Amino acid sequence: MRMMNCDIMTDSAVLTKKQCYDEGVEILTKAGIDEAKSDARLLLEYIAGVTYNDLCIHQEEEVRQDRVSAYREALKRRTEHVPVQYITGKQEFMGLEFTVSPDVLIPRYDTEILVEEVLRLGLSGIDILDVCTGSGCILISLLHYMHDCRGTGIDISDKALKVAATNAKKHNVNAGFCEGDLFDALAKAGEANNDIKLKYDLIVSNPPYIPTGVIPTLMREVRDYEPVIALDGDDDGLKFYRRIVEEAPDHLVRGGRLYMEIGYDQGAAVNLIMEKRGFADIEIYKDLGGNDRVICGEWRR
Ligand code: GLN
Repeated sequence: MRMMNCDIMTDSAVLTKKQCYDEGVEILTKAGIDEAKSDARLLLEYIAGVTYNDLCIHQEEEVRQDRVSAYREALKRRTEHVPVQYITGKQEFMGLEFTVSPDVLIPRYDTEILVEEVLRLGLSGIDILDVCTGSGCILISLLHYMHDCRGTGIDISDKALKVAATNAKKHNVNAGFCEGDLFDALAKAGEANNDIKLKYDLIVSNPPYIPTGVIPTLMREVRDYEPVIALDGDDDGLKFYRRIVEEAPDHLVRGGRLYMEIGYDQGAAVNLIMEKRGFADIEIYKDLGGNDRVICGEWRR
């Protein structure tokens, strides 16, 4: 019988760390994945337990067969455009590791701008409310870096709140979570006598803000795998800003501030919504790409 020279691609062949990495880069590149090298590295680390350091200095060491199989399975999912974070179950945000699942939006670096602007205020000992908390990344990183603060995260998705609670536990912060449609969550929790505060010093939010018609044009990773309820801001993308800005004052102390992430072209529109509602000292901050990204205002009445 003739032997076929394809051992390296079968599951029975022994592979070195370097061979695993090279195979991953090749498979992902062929599948048209933009970040083939870094994704292969991440999958190798989180799925097969081979760190970047390992790859540099122990290149020729063999990888256990079961780990190679798991790594190949992960590569296959990535070629189907499943975001690498849903495969590894992790994403870093503000230097902290967050657990993520397809029930939550993957934390974005642009959102760090919001957290950094709040941290710049140098506040401590305050109560913070995070509306549409998702993975909890905004609230939990604020609580981690600020002193002596308490937080509440609200979201319409119970499944998302479970992920947020896991993250709060992981980072050992003082946060509670309740489910409901925006601020209704607080009323519900209040009725249930859950020791939920009804007034906050600070409200933060990264609500869904993509116009419905734009969603089909998003990259496959986002469009096909991230939760659409975390993205869809209705026809003009502004639905949640209107509702949050309308209702936030009922939940802010006098002098309390509202910080929201916004889409690159929504600065003027959201500014107007906040101005009309009576917010003062409205400011817009840009992201690293030079686009409007965060808006904030103070409630003085
Ligand atoms: N607050 C979470 C984040 O910023 C989730 C936001 C959302 O689901 N729209 O990542």
